[in-house]
Amino acid sequence: MIVDFRSDTVTRPTPAMREAMFSAKLGDDVFGEDPSINELENLCANMFGMEAAIFCPSGTMTNQIAIKCHTQPGDELICDESSHIYQYEGGGIAFNSGASVKLLAGDRGRVKAEQVEKAIQPDDVHRPISRLVSLENTSNRGGGSCYEIKDLEEIKAICKKYGLSFHLDGARLWNALVAKGQTARQYGELFDSISVCLSKSLGCPVGSLLLGDTAFIKKARRVRKVFGGGMRQAGFMAAAGIYALKHNIERLEEDHRHAKMIGEALQQKGFINQVLPIETNIIIFELKPGMSAKELVEKMKATDILAYAIAPDRVRLVVHLDITPAMVARTTELIDTL
Ligand SMILES: *Cc1c(COP(=O)(O)O)cnc(C)c1O
Repeated sequence: MIVDFRSDTVTRPTPAMREAMFSAKLGDDVFGEDPSINELENLCANMFGMEAAIFCPSGTMTNQIAIKCHTQPGDELICDESSHIYQYEGGGIAFNSGASVKLLAGDRGRVKAEQVEKAIQPDDVHRPISRLVSLENTSNRGGGSCYEIKDLEEIKAICKKYGLSFHLDGARLWNALVAKGQTARQYGELFDSISVCLSKSLGCPVGSLLLGDTAFIKKARRVRKVFGGGMRQAGFMAAAGIYALKHNIERLEEDHRHAKMIGEALQQKGFINQVLPIETNIIIFELKPGMSAKELVEKMKATDILAYAIAPDRVRLVVHLDITPAMVARTTELIDTL
């Protein structure tokens, strides 16, 4: 039995999700005529109490479209140094939007209002124009850490004061909602745009949504076409998303419980320097000198447990829909023997 913790993107659609996909009503979405995509966009926008949504092939695309819509070339966006938009989107901020980036050193991916305020450029011809603040919740490199609503409200107040747009990379926002007992509507009230993934914690094969007001999403539709992301009968994918939004959110609590169990087993190991606090479905730990992350990942692979070396001394495990209680039990047993 191979237990794959490399990412929560490795899930395969369940029989019930496949059934929903097979029976999806289809049309040409570039003409706005795919009923399943229209239903998914409306469903998701309503969950967040936002005006509109657009379905896209990936979370990279929803983030990059949002950045393109919020900025002009030469503008600056503010984000944490570990952000996916900066680290893992192929330099897309520069490539697609010609924008500059001001990086903040946050706490496990989370930044504070004071840091954001200090990073805003003065009105000076030498400087780029600060235009956008982008947050990530949960934070991937932060080990699935979550924001408190109060901290988000404080950052929102700074954005309002200085006229900055406020974007959320919510690839794993579902995990934060469940872990913190927060609601999608609280987020809809705070942010100008939100990107959420269906292909991470929710078990869909493909897809992300970008949410915003009607004018913003209209602009996003134009940018999606330019980026080559206009899809035709993609209702098959949207049907998986509708199924996931209805059935796969509450169960994330189980993934979080499993992550904590694995974290506790890891905590006992002498070769580990520290396990980052486990708030959701991501486990990140740091090794003591003597064994590299690559070596440990190889050692685990030999026992059929797949993990990911995210830095020379850091390993990441992600719990997801396809990880069963039996797999968790086997994993904790094998960790004991490492
Ligand atoms: C995975 C991820 C994305 C989007 O990734 P895609 O593979 O392009 O869907 C965006 N932000 C974060 C934080 C992620 O973990």
